[in-house]
Amino acid sequence: MKKVVIIGGGIGGLALANLLAKKGHEVHVYDKNAQMGGRAGEKKAKGFTFDTGPSWYLMPKVFQDYFALFDVNVDKELSIERLRPGYKVFFESHESVTIRGDLAKDSASFEKIEPGAGQALERYVAEGDYIYQMALKHFLYTDFSRLHQLAKGEILKGSAKLLTLLATPIHSRVKKFVKSRPLQQILEYPMVFLGTSPFKAPAMYSLMSALDFKEGVYYPAGGMYSIIRLMVAVGKKHGVKHHTNAKVKKITHTNGQATGIVLKDGTKINADIVVSNGDLHHTETKLLSAEAQSYPAQFWKKKEAGISALLMYVGVKGSLPQLEHHNLYFVDAWKENFTSIYENKRIPESASIYVSRTSATDPSTAPKGHENLFFLVPLPTDVPISASKQTKLANHFIAEFGKAIGEPELGSKIVLKDLFGPADFKEKYFAWRGTALGMSHLLGQSALWRIPPKSKKLKNLFYVGGNTMPGIGLPMCLISAELAYKKITRNHRPGPLRDMKGEW
Ligand SMILES: Cc1cc2nc3c(=O)[nH]c(=O)nc-3n(C[C@H](O)[C@H](O)[C@H](O)COP(=O)(O)OP(=O)(O)OC[C@H]3O[C@@H](n4cnc5c(N)ncnc54)[C@H](O)[C@@H]3O)c2cc1C
Repeated sequence: MKKVVIIGGGIGGLALANLLAKKGHEVHVYDKNAQMGGRAGEKKAKGFTFDTGPSWYLMPKVFQDYFALFDVNVDKELSIERLRPGYKVFFESHESVTIRGDLAKDSASFEKIEPGAGQALERYVAEGDYIYQMALKHFLYTDFSRLHQLAKGEILKGSAKLLTLLATPIHSRVKKFVKSRPLQQILEYPMVFLGTSPFKAPAMYSLMSALDFKEGVYYPAGGMYSIIRLMVAVGKKHGVKHHTNAKVKKITHTNGQATGIVLKDGTKINADIVVSNGDLHHTETKLLSAEAQSYPAQFWKKKEAGISALLMYVGVKGSLPQLEHHNLYFVDAWKENFTSIYENKRIPESASIYVSRTSATDPSTAPKGHENLFFLVPLPTDVPISASKQTKLANHFIAEFGKAIGEPELGSKIVLKDLFGPADFKEKYFAWRGTALGMSHLLGQSALWRIPPKSKKLKNLFYVGGNTMPGIGLPMCLISAELAYKKITRNHRPGPLRDMKGEW
């Protein structure tokens, strides 16, 4: 039995803790905040319950496979329901479009907007689904340390297509399928969830459209935080010790071996294995001494942090039946919006935004007669915003969204408004450049080019979470936990642990 300390109780850290504890190790998770879950937190105020970050439950099989390792049927345990419709899109100068998650109906909606686009959508989703299935089978559950495992007939056969999709920005690919701006926007927006721009992200991420158009968008009863509650409960059952309000200030090491951690109050904790689920820039440049850094300050200068964000947790009196559970609003200045965020690093005047209304399907998230709205406005990283500017921006974007949904008085119906901006990401999660999601999914920061689960300098220091392979998002972080687990236990077999039938 080894003693393992995990810095950070984000979903990746918690998921790895459970795997190691189930195999009999003594596991301690230390998080600086009062609540486990990291970005996937929960916030309650005035009778409203908000998920602080993630709200889209995608890739259900990844959750099923992970929890099955603990004999938990996650669909039953969390009452996972498919959302129908999947989401609704509002445009600055086009009628709204509802995405039903039923390909026949959605292609009919596309066809109405652009002749030929119905079939084009079907082809696009089929291509995305091909990439998705290939990714699940061969590219997500691997840290690429044994490249010969990828020399398989199926991969070699598809390699020309896969390479093209790697080398082409998704915007250029989408243009080949649909011509009208609203349809291009629908197919390109998911890149924001990967922290990148459709003008830079590789076209292989068209797999995201296979998720929302084909596989479906899901929701756990009571909100996304119920995933974290379940994760913690599973951990407790297997003996994981969760420590909150426990900021780690140092990883100790000697002779190329990590020896433990030091907490902010000076407490020294020895360990056989140290794992960081915290922001990797922070871990590498602040918790480790120079000789132990695999990714020193110089490394980060050449990397893209992706987006930051202004989040708004908003309670509204009255009802907003024109909104679905998930809603997007796209502005005409589409490319300019991305250029402001990624290239010019300017706060955009006009922004495409995401708004969830969980009270649409889950009345427990708002008091009777009220709506629960969560706004996500993508912003550039590393641009300081004063508190007063942030408040002004919030009011401006709420007013814009109100106009777009035919609710010009939205601002006056608000009974609760809490803001969380770039400075809060830095303060609460030690986020590099205030990034909301972590290192973006540019080609050079994806797949085998993303940070692997093991330190290059310390033998027993490992990494888990959204900055590591395979990347951003809750399902990706569950996979990252499996990759870190395999690295720690020297299990070199590709594929999900569930496929190893108990031999993991
Ligand atoms: C606004 C927003 C919306 C999102 N939407 C979705 C979505 O709809 N669907 C989806 O699947 N994903 C979504 N994501 C992405 C997803 O939430 C993240 O990829 C995932 O939660 C990251 O988990 P993680 O394991 O990397 O850890 P994190 O959540 O980043 O947690 C790391 C933890 O480590 C702690 N920590 C760091 N340093 C220290 C230290 N020195 N000492 C102690 N503790 C430390 C931090 O406090 C934090 O609690 C969203 C994210 C955000 C922010």
